[in-house]
Amino acid sequence: MAIREIIILPDKQLRLVSRPIETVTPEIRKLADDMFETMYDAPGIGLAGIQIAQPLRIVTMDLAKRDEEGELTPRPRVFINPEILSASEELSVYEEGCLSIPEYYEAVERPARVRVRFTDLDGKVQEEDAEGLFATCIQHEIDHLNGVLFVDHLSKLKRDRVMKKFTKAAKLAAR
Ligand SMILES: [Zn+2]
Repeated sequence: MAIREIIILPDKQLRLVSRPIETVTPEIRKLADDMFETMYDAPGIGLAGIQIAQPLRIVTMDLAKRDEEGELTPRPRVFINPEILSASEELSVYEEGCLSIPEYYEAVERPARVRVRFTDLDGKVQEEDAEGLFATCIQHEIDHLNGVLFVDHLSKLKRDRVMKKFTKAAKLAAR
């Protein structure tokens, strides 16, 4: 396993539409391993392939649960070619962040529940209902596969402000 570099705003690759994965090869499993290592190191709860410059429709996620003793149980999950089949009319608001937009958090409104179809690491197609943080996270990650960022869901004023801030920071870093 290896930690890969996470690309950040305003890197244009974040706007690419990722390609579907036809078969789950050993290379794809290796990519998933690297994505987990990168995600845990960051640390983050979700990562899309394009965030490590791999324009493939793959998402890693770990919404680890704390038990009564406060012990954190990891729940690593991989979603290949995930798609939303249906979404609730009811919306919910979560404060979102993104490893590609470091240290920026803003409330985003999305459908509270979604039904998702995806392929797992064994190549099996599955369907699942998502709600709560899971629903928000999978929608955020599927957006990445379509070149969409959570700041795109904000007002133009807020989005322009964050784009300007990261464009300026990238220019300073390049000097
Ligand atoms: Zn993100």
